[in-house]
Amino acid sequence: MSNSLIQETKRIVAQFDYTDDDLNKGVQEFLRQMNEGLQKDATSLSQIPTYVTGVPNGTEKGLYMAVDLGGTNFRVCSVHLNGDTTFDLTYSKVAIPKELMVAKTSKELFGFLAKQIELFLKTHHEDHFEALVRRRKSTKTPHGYEDENVFRLGFTFSFPVQQFGINKGSLIRWTKGFDIPDTVGKDVCALLQEEIDLLHLPVKVAALVNDTVGTLMARSYTSPGKTATLIGAIFGTGTNGAYVEKIENLQKSVGGQYDKSTGEMVINTEWGSFDNQLNVLPNTPYDAKLDRESVNPGIQIFEKRVSGMFLGEIVRLAVVDLYESPNVSLFKGISSSTNDQKTTTRIGDGSGLFKQWGLDSSLMSTAVADSTPDLSTLRQELDSHLQIHAASVEDAQAFKDIAYAVGRRAARLSAVALAGIVIQSGRLKETKDELVDIGADGSLVEHYPSFRDMIQEALKSIEGIGAEGAERIRIGIARDGSGVGAALIALVAAGMEKKGITDEPADAIPSAGEPTTLT
Ligand code: ADP
Ligand code: MG
Repeated sequence: MSNSLIQETKRIVAQFDYTDDDLNKGVQEFLRQMNEGLQKDATSLSQIPTYVTGVPNGTEKGLYMAVDLGGTNFRVCSVHLNGDTTFDLTYSKVAIPKELMVAKTSKELFGFLAKQIELFLKTHHEDHFEALVRRRKSTKTPHGYEDENVFRLGFTFSFPVQQFGINKGSLIRWTKGFDIPDTVGKDVCALLQEEIDLLHLPVKVAALVNDTVGTLMARSYTSPGKTATLIGAIFGTGTNGAYVEKIENLQKSVGGQYDKSTGEMVINTEWGSFDNQLNVLPNTPYDAKLDRESVNPGIQIFEKRVSGMFLGEIVRLAVVDLYESPNVSLFKGISSSTNDQKTTTRIGDGSGLFKQWGLDSSLMSTAVADSTPDLSTLRQELDSHLQIHAASVEDAQAFKDIAYAVGRRAARLSAVALAGIVIQSGRLKETKDELVDIGADGSLVEHYPSFRDMIQEALKSIEGIGAEGAERIRIGIARDGSGVGAALIALVAAGMEKKGITDEPADAIPSAGEPTTLT
């Protein structure tokens, strides 16, 4: 590498250092903001009560349904929990028709969703289905829930809702291209139930589910050993986590009914907005620029340094800065001593390198994973993804160094959130050798090389955890939170019904409280 390229790359990479000292300051602030969020509304970490008051241990049994309304698709599945940490899942997926996303009334969209549920039941559970529909049609009450055999359904709804019961939550606003004004302020579970009832389906919308909580439940059910999982964490497009908190620590008021007997409740932290004030989070010129040019400046500041949607953009901004540095030859094919392709490096006109969001985070994984001596895989991907033709080994090395630095900082920041929660829970102190289990989901944690190892390494340096503590923290990938996780929350809800923790009347929608953003 030419000296100036090496030196400039080093200078940029150094800005992404996140030292052990930074880590520890970060954890202290995370703990402070966590506790603030448990005490009052409208804080940085929203700390939203989920009404889920226990986690599974793998012995749960039964047949449940789950649906997931994401941004583009509607997934319907049934989950058979076998009671031995395993499950069988049947699922179908349908694209949501564009015209329904902007329909005139809620009925059009929710009617469509109910239709899909009907279709799924007819296809996959015909025997069960016919008998139950007949019975439901004959019940006199409008709901007919006295039938013990209706499917309990967990509803993963990935839009901002204000939750006020295990199966109640009103839509705050639509996002992701949806716009049906009529739905705003209404209970989305009730809207779905109405349409299900019109079709006489044997289904009760039992639980409203956030993907972090689904991940926590899915992991706790499937994880090896008896240890109950403490945290469900998402590192995908966005980042967020849910964890098990002692109810006595939850000092702000929680409306609605929940099972108080366990003494615990799962809290959705909404940690993506940790330290929006920038008390402790790093803020390189690249972070600042990304935020300034985003649709929501000043918001989701932690997420903007950690999750898949943003990391590629940070890398892009840093690489462009390097490219534009005077006297530095990057992607210019001039002073590259080992440009073995014998052609001049060229960047295509439509290259994502010069477009906002033009660099996908998956390219970072490719870069970091490429350990060939001439970085041939990465150079190929620079060509195919960014139209950077005939990049030299030195160019690719500079790119790789920056991608590594940005990814490593993200992993160490992730460790701040996880460590804060582990310390808050007291679990390392409660026993001498039991594991503290964490379920994680999302493309970043699954595919970025050594993401979990880098988290583990950071945990060792955190006061209150240390090398011994880190050994006892286990992070496992938990897939399918919106399937098996949602089914497990439906099971919790069914348990509440049995214990007589009854539904509140539909008009008891509290106005206080923070919005739940379902990522
Ligand atoms: P979602 O958040 O919608 O559930 P994912 O968990 O798949 O979906 O996360 C998608 C995000 O992960 C995108 O921002 C994408 O850029 C990023 N991503 C996808 N593949 C990789 C990869 N191999 N390495 C790092 N990031 C990735
Ligand atoms: Mg996801």
